[in-house]
Amino acid sequence: MISDETRLQEVAGWVRDSRAVVVLTGAGISTESGIPDFRGPQGVWTKDPKAEKLSNIHHYMNDPEVRVASWQARLVHPAWTAQPNAAHRALADLERKGQVDTLVTQNIDGLHQKAGSSPDRVIEIHGTMREVVCMACGERAPMERALDRVRAGEADPPCRSCGGILKSATISFGQNLVAEDLARAEKAARTCDLFLALGTTLTVYPVAYLPEAALEAGARLVIANAEPTPYDPRADAVFRGNLGDVLPALVALV
Ligand code: NAD
Repeated sequence: MISDETRLQEVAGWVRDSRAVVVLTGAGISTESGIPDFRGPQGVWTKDPKAEKLSNIHHYMNDPEVRVASWQARLVHPAWTAQPNAAHRALADLERKGQVDTLVTQNIDGLHQKAGSSPDRVIEIHGTMREVVCMACGERAPMERALDRVRAGEADPPCRSCGGILKSATISFGQNLVAEDLARAEKAARTCDLFLALGTTLTVYPVAYLPEAALEAGARLVIANAEPTPYDPRADAVFRGNLGDVLPALVALV
């Protein structure tokens, strides 16, 4: 059996020799910053299946109670105080070493940019929780202003311009991704020669199609996730440890 250390050396060599590395991150990269994932063993939905309703656009638009609960959840979200962890910092280091073409993240917490990854290389494919968007007129505004209104007593603050329903600028289940973000991510996946999938179950589509696009184009696939993913049998290397250990160890060897 090949040890993790030997595997890391090998993968570091692939990273060094790559023309274009594309990274995909999921909720698993932020758990060590204190933000729980949804589907992992300690996941928000694993512990409370009802919480899934808050992430579904149909429930959000049609049920005022879901919106009130969503605003309360946003007020106390751990991301407001979370700091990037060693895994986020390792990816920022990898970019400084010239080895990150594009970083596609499913996370909405902004921690990659906070760790030093360039905003123009990061695609927030599921949006950001740092802004709100009006579901009627499309106007966007800082989340902090809307949260101030909730703190002041508005349980479900409407859009100030048109009275429409406000929501965090994230992609809920049942909503389409932003077409240009998806097109950019697909192009990056189709033209990379190494694809790193980190802290994601690779089950949320269409993002979970990106490793497929990379494999079809002949790229190598490396997966680091605490649990098995459907792509593991097709990956060139799989790591199971915590990302806060695996990524700094890998990047130090690049
Ligand atoms: P997921 O919750 O489905 O899966 C996360 C995976 O990461 C799990 O398999 C888990 O075992 C693994 N994991 C957890 N901690 C890890 C660690 N320290 N090291 C290695 N692996 C670890 O996440 P997903 O597939 O990304 O999909 C959930 C969706 O929910 C995302 O698309 C995202 O939009 C949203 N979400 C975002 C955040 C955030 O912004 N931090 C948090 C929760 C959910």
